[in-house]
Amino acid sequence: MDRLAIVVPCYNEEEVLKIASKALREVLEDLVKKGKISEDSFILFVNDGSRDRTWELIEEEHRAYPEQVFGVKLAGNVGHQFALTAGLITAKDLSDVTVSIDADLQDDVTVIEEMLDKFHAGNDIVYGVRKERKTDTFFKRTTAQGFYKVMGMMGVKTVYNHADFRLMSKRAVEQFSLYKETNLFLRGMMPLIGYQTDCVYYDRKERVAGESKYPLKKMLALAFNGISSFSVKPISMILGLGMVIIFASILAAVYALISYFTGHVVPGWTSLILSIWFLGGVELLAIGLVGQYIGKIYIEVKQRPRYNIEKVLTDEENS
Ligand code: UDP
Ligand code: MG
Repeated sequence: MDRLAIVVPCYNEEEVLKIASKALREVLEDLVKKGKISEDSFILFVNDGSRDRTWELIEEEHRAYPEQVFGVKLAGNVGHQFALTAGLITAKDLSDVTVSIDADLQDDVTVIEEMLDKFHAGNDIVYGVRKERKTDTFFKRTTAQGFYKVMGMMGVKTVYNHADFRLMSKRAVEQFSLYKETNLFLRGMMPLIGYQTDCVYYDRKERVAGESKYPLKKMLALAFNGISSFSVKPISMILGLGMVIIFASILAAVYALISYFTGHVVPGWTSLILSIWFLGGVELLAIGLVGQYIGKIYIEVKQRPRYNIEKVLTDEENS
């Protein structure tokens, strides 16, 4: 039977920690009873440098339920993406399968069972996908959806309306741990891993208590980080713009020459206009070209795994 680890990043979550712990312990118990996970499955709370009593509460929970509640204390606040990564990488050595979920219980814990069923059906990653965004404010909903659209346009593969509520098999986390980049954007990285994946759908609820730890500033930073970590398209756009402007300079040349020969221009205007358009285009083209190389260097320095072997068939299989 598989040992499940539920990984929960927590930053200043003293209001919700006990509630989350109770709800998740109930989920574990239920799943153990149904024979879907082993009895030594556990919850791993990752304290992301909270300034409130979050860590004390995690310790209390661990003392009360030493077999079900584990904790990791990060030395300072490193942000949700890093805290979650720390949790996943710690959990992978102790478990066969992980589920990551936020501490505020906005994600529906009851679909964890469905995730496990899909895992047992052979999926290595199961994404939790929000059906609708009824509980989000209009602002959060539109900005978030705009974000997925822009990401798509930039050629970054993400799962639409999926945040970081997902199941990952041990080998998926292991493969993920080979991505050594520091600019983490988990939602973009998971699809790179490959393997068979599936989705489960749920309604996202309101936070059970406390406030969002993701103010607009952090959201924008995440969005920009997502695009700039996964796409060198903006650089190609500069190159494209340079070409368009050089083409436009040809049109401008025709226009300027006609004006010149029809004789309605101030002396010097024609050559000035031509130089401005043409040189502007050439400059952009040059910047874009240099950018292409920087883009390649950027991709190289990430040293991402070049492939991920899922299965090998050899003659040893038979012996
Ligand atoms: N979180 C974290 N470190 C941070 C900010 C947030 O570990 O610096 C955790 C937080 O405790 C929660 C999850 O990340 O478990 C998602 O945060 P939140 O619910 O505030 O974001 P929202 O749902 O509003 O986007
Ligand atoms: Mg939340």
